[in-house]
Amino acid sequence: MYQDAEGKCWWKGNLHTHTTRSDGLKSPKEAEALYRMNGYDFLAITDHWKFLETRQENGFLLLSGCEYDVGKAARAETGIYHIVSIGAAQEPSLKRREGLTANEVLNAIGEAGGFAVLAHPAWSLNRPDEIEKLRGVGAAEVYNTFSGLPWNGRRADSSGILDTLAAAGSLLPFVAADDTHLYAGEECRSFIWVEAPELTAGAILASLREGRFYASQGPKLAVSVSDGKVQVDCSPVSAVIFYSNLVWSAGRVIQGDSLTNVTYSLKSGENFIRVEAIDALGRIAWSSPVAVGR
Ligand SMILES: [Zn+2]
Ligand SMILES: [Zn+2]
Repeated sequence: MYQDAEGKCWWKGNLHTHTTRSDGLKSPKEAEALYRMNGYDFLAITDHWKFLETRQENGFLLLSGCEYDVGKAARAETGIYHIVSIGAAQEPSLKRREGLTANEVLNAIGEAGGFAVLAHPAWSLNRPDEIEKLRGVGAAEVYNTFSGLPWNGRRADSSGILDTLAAAGSLLPFVAADDTHLYAGEECRSFIWVEAPELTAGAILASLREGRFYASQGPKLAVSVSDGKVQVDCSPVSAVIFYSNLVWSAGRVIQGDSLTNVTYSLKSGENFIRVEAIDALGRIAWSSPVAVGR
């Protein structure tokens, strides 16, 4: 946890973790101990089709979780969707069957009080026009550690797909997550910071629904937009990048030593803006896209 300049508390968590309850190599207890030791405040254990309930012990919050998938292993007409349920009050009422749709999964997660995250859209080869038809997605993974090298090629980064979606007017909030399976270097890498008055399932869930979080691998980030300017305050980084629906924008990339304070002037025609801050070790923090110029 850290406190920002206004005294608000930001809690660190990973929303996508597998254990021996499905195809992960550590037990839930071992996974919890590992994340806790690495400074995390909360964790969701999201084994494939195995729901685990919310529990809070000794200052660490385990949010209920489960990962559901629909579609075949090869990219088919129906698409492939992996959807993670976070913090549902009870197990979503779902049975694995052929023909199950992503919207049925999202609906069941919503009815059970869960927050739904679209997992690794780049890995799943999701298309923006298909994501647009989904109802009840709370956030999408802009980065999924396990979809990257050396475990899974180079499909960790979904920002291109999510930018195309945002340019068309559908702004999904961004999370980053490890999707831990092997505990072979993918653990404790990509996470979210959530702003909440206290570390309880209720408070974290409320903040997730209100978009009071950002994705990171290390840098801390605060972004505000007013009077045609985007103001970024961050922990020391070596680059800040502003992404929008414009394919070209002057002043989009700012590089330097230990940047902590950067401003960007919005350009005519921009309909959304988002920020990446990258530190000297190459670790990224991502803001969610925000609508501008309307
Ligand atoms: Zn998955
Ligand atoms: Zn997974």
